[in-house]
Amino acid sequence: MSADTTFKYSATAGIQHEEPLLFEHAHEAPSSISLPGVDGEISDALNHFARKDAAGIPGLSEPEAVRHFVRMSQWNHGIETGFYPLGSCTMKYNPRVNEQVVRLPGLAHIHPDQPEATAQGVLALLYELQGWLGEIAGLPYVTLQPAAGAHGELAGLMMIRAALDARGDTHRRKVLVPDSAHGTNPASAALCGMHTVELKSGADGRIDLDELKAHLDADTAALMMTNPNTAGAFESDIKEICRLVHEAGALVYGDGANLNALVGVARPGDMGIDCLHINVHKTFSTPHGGGGPGGGPVAVNETLAPFLPVPRIEKQGDTYVLLQHADTSVGPVLGSVGQIGVLLRAHAYISAFGRQHLHSIAEDAVLNANYVLRRLQGRYHVPFPGLCKHECLLTDEVQERHGVKTLDIAKRLIDLGFHPMTVYFPLIVHGAMLIEPTETESRETLDAFCDAMLDIADVCEAGDTDILHEAPVKPFRRRLDETQAARKPVLVWPA
Ligand SMILES: *Cc1c(COP(=O)(O)O)cnc(C)c1O
Repeated sequence: MSADTTFKYSATAGIQHEEPLLFEHAHEAPSSISLPGVDGEISDALNHFARKDAAGIPGLSEPEAVRHFVRMSQWNHGIETGFYPLGSCTMKYNPRVNEQVVRLPGLAHIHPDQPEATAQGVLALLYELQGWLGEIAGLPYVTLQPAAGAHGELAGLMMIRAALDARGDTHRRKVLVPDSAHGTNPASAALCGMHTVELKSGADGRIDLDELKAHLDADTAALMMTNPNTAGAFESDIKEICRLVHEAGALVYGDGANLNALVGVARPGDMGIDCLHINVHKTFSTPHGGGGPGGGPVAVNETLAPFLPVPRIEKQGDTYVLLQHADTSVGPVLGSVGQIGVLLRAHAYISAFGRQHLHSIAEDAVLNANYVLRRLQGRYHVPFPGLCKHECLLTDEVQERHGVKTLDIAKRLIDLGFHPMTVYFPLIVHGAMLIEPTETESRETLDAFCDAMLDIADVCEAGDTDILHEAPVKPFRRRLDETQAARKPVLVWPA
């Protein structure tokens, strides 16, 4: 690999400072801020509040404190510092104009409890977004309330459950979930009081029709499916799948996290899906690493429309109103009409493309993923050959022969200046590496990433694998015990 690529993209090539904790930094002096002494007695009224012990905050000058936080921020990787190819995540660049839009004072300073009459502008935008999302999904009735994809899954399943109950099917509580599904699918079903049955994927990574038929019965409430699925493959039997589920008296829940592959080109509603959540923070920008704010609007067909959450945004004449009550509604699922900041970014992103060009999102995303697949296949094992949709799936099968695993490859990418791809997901293949470039990356960036991946493959084949097992060597913190960090975080100092 050329030194040039390392130089251009290395996350750690600049002046980087090792950074102690703020408390380790501190001087003896309690603070470098000097306040004038108190002349005479503190008045009786204030005396009660006079501090008796040291404040217990680190003594730092303003520049020391500022540098601490800025240095810490520079240890981060974000979509604005480099390529972020996490699969099943749609980490795309969020255009600056979206940020300008949401910071307009009339939008930024709005309050959820503000009277409708004073919020007509924002309600108009949200109403418009509702319509666009309905059209994109091919499912015209939309709630903007859910705060993320997983929340949308719960809201959607609540509607499905209510619709089944309304027609007397109160025994239908079984939800079929393919083994390639995101973990939130079975979790949402359980939270909704349903139980799940796992469907084993076929040899091509898709839903196996015989497996589906074998599990569909009079207790089945729904099939929860992702299309394209988490292996980046389009479920080409989608129409037959929906027909079979409907014939069995159940409904089809669509996990719309992968809508980036379809937007403006094909509509889940037209394929037979009854209910779809849309991760607007994925498909329509808003960076969401580290669990940042999201939005999971749900679009449904006529069957489920009566059960949509309230309040609902409706238009009466020229006025936008919040419909607060509907007899059949599952009720509110959030304390307001939705995460307005994220929804408005989605509105801005869709507006920038317009109806005519929206399809280029999906086309460019799919093209980019297939470009990466083409450059890497032959050197990395491709478990399900053929064209992929918006993300491509590889495994470590070839590298494992040299004792190198997916984790080593991912960690080496950090040394080469890239955020690793999604690793060990989906679970249906061994040593998965799921790469999703999205439409916002240039060919140069994709080439630099592919060069890095090919360099790793070369190193493997040459047998110099120490550098891969030791990676990452450039960051201050190297291989972390992530399980320990998640299960037993140390949140106080001193520990
Ligand atoms: C991201 C994702 C989810 C969960 O969505 P959140 O917005 O993170 O709650 C569900 N399913 C799939 C396939 C996903 O990629």
